Amino acid sequence: MNFVNKKVVVLGVGISGNAVAKLAKELGAVVTLSDSNAEIAKKYDLDELRDCGVTVELGPQSDSLISGIDYLILSPGVPMAVPLVQKAIANGVEVMSEVEVAYRLCKVPLYAVTGTNGKTTTTTLLGELMKKIGTEVGVGGNIGVALSSEVHRVGEKGCVVAEISSYQLEASSQFNPHIVAILNVTPDHIARHGSIDNYQKVKEQIFSHHTKDDYLVLNYDDARVKSMAERANSTVMFFSRLHELEEGAFVKDHWLTINWQGKSYKICTVDDVKIKGGHNIENALAAVGVAFLAGVGAEAMAQVLKEFPGVEHRIEPVTTIDGVGYFNDSKATNPESTIKALEAFTGHIILIAGGHDKNTDLTEFMQLIKEKVDELILIGNAAARFKEAAIANGITNIHETGYSMEEAVKLAHKIAKEPQIVLLSPACASFDMFDGFEERGRVFKELVYKLK
Ligand code: ADP
Repeated sequence: MNFVNKKVVVLGVGISGNAVAKLAKELGAVVTLSDSNAEIAKKYDLDELRDCGVTVELGPQSDSLISGIDYLILSPGVPMAVPLVQKAIANGVEVMSEVEVAYRLCKVPLYAVTGTNGKTTTTTLLGELMKKIGTEVGVGGNIGVALSSEVHRVGEKGCVVAEISSYQLEASSQFNPHIVAILNVTPDHIARHGSIDNYQKVKEQIFSHHTKDDYLVLNYDDARVKSMAERANSTVMFFSRLHELEEGAFVKDHWLTINWQGKSYKICTVDDVKIKGGHNIENALAAVGVAFLAGVGAEAMAQVLKEFPGVEHRIEPVTTIDGVGYFNDSKATNPESTIKALEAFTGHIILIAGGHDKNTDLTEFMQLIKEKVDELILIGNAAARFKEAAIANGITNIHETGYSMEEAVKLAHKIAKEPQIVLLSPACASFDMFDGFEERGRVFKELVYKLK
C-alpha cells in the first residue's frame, strides 16, 4: 500500500484512529483525522498529532470532508452504516478499517485471534509463545496498541500477533492473516451486528481469503465455531478441552497434547498452566495450536505456559485479607465471562456483579450463582433486573449497594470469612459508573488495598 501524496481521512479519534493517522502521515499522505464528538479531545493528546502535520477536525462532519479523497480509514468504533461512510462508498472512495491498513503494510507473517471471549488472554499468551523462536514479535489490534503501529515497528523480520474484534473486520476486504484462531461465538455486540448469525458471519470474514496453505485453529467444543470448518478453504486444526481428538490440540490424561501429521507432542499438564479456569485451558490450547503451526517447539511452549501470569482484570488475584482472597475480573462484561470465572472456583464465592445492563439472558448465569455463590452483591443500573432474575431462581442472599463500588467492597469485606473469596466479575459493561472496565478494576483494587 502506498500512501505517498494520497489524501486520507481517518474517522474516529482513539488508539487505532490516532495511530493510523500518524502512520499514514509518516508514510507521505495528506491526513485529516475527524471525530463527530468534539468532547473526545479531552481524552486524547491530539496536539501530538497536529505537531506531526495531521489536520484534526472535531464536531459536525459535512460531505466536504470526504470530497476528493483517496482513502477513508475507519476506527473500530465507526460502523460502516454511518451515512458519511456510505456516501464515501457511493462516491468511489476506498473505505477500509485500520487493521486492513495494517495488513496491507505488513511484511511478516500475521497471526490472528478472534472470538467473543478470551481474545486478549490468548493473544498476549501467543505473543509470549512466539518470542520463544527468537524473532521480533508485534502484538496489537484490539488490545490497547494499534495493529498498524506494531506492523510498522516490527518491519521486515519477525511476526505480528493480532487481536481482532468483529468491529475491526467490518471494513476489511483483503485482511488475510496466515494463521487464525477462533475461540468462541456467543451473543454479544448484537446491537451493532443485528443478530448472532450476522455477528458470526462477520467473524467468518477473517478466513474468507484463506487457501489450503493457511491455517484455521477452531474450537471443537463450540458448535458455531466447529461448523466454520465446513465453510473454510483453510487447513483446519481443531482444539478441544473436552474431547480427545485424533488430530489437533487437546487434553489427554491431564496433558495438553498436540497430534499433528502422525506425530504426538506432550506439552505440559493442565495443573502446570498458570492461568486458572477451564476457559483458560481453552485459551492455552488455541495459543499452542497457533504457535505449533508457526514453528514453536513443545518444550518452549511448556516453559511459557508455566510462567504466563495472565492479563490484568481477568480473574486477577489482588490480595488476601484474613484468609479471604480478593479477585478482580472487571473484564467480565457479559454473563458468559462471569460464568467462566465462577467455574474457575470451587464455590464459597461472594460475588460483586452488575453495572451497565446489556439485557443479556441471565438463566444459566443465575443457575450457577445459585450453585456457587454464597452472597450476591449488586451494583449499577443492572441491579434491579439482576435481582428479579436472582429471586426467580430461588437466590436469597442478595444485597444492593446502588452505584457505589466502595460500599460493595466494604460489605463484601464485612461478610466474607475464610474459605470464602470475594470476586468482582460484573457480567455487565461499566459505563454507568466508570470510564471503562480498566477504571472499574483499578478502583476495585484500590478499595481492596485500603481494607488492609
Ligand atoms: P476478550 O479480549 O475477548 O474480551 P479476555 O481475555 O480479555 O477476552 O477475557 C475477557 C473475559 O472473558 C474474562 O473476564 C474471562 O473471564 C472470560 N474469558 C476468557 N477466556 C474465555 C474463554 N475462552 N471462553 C469464555 N470466557 C472467557
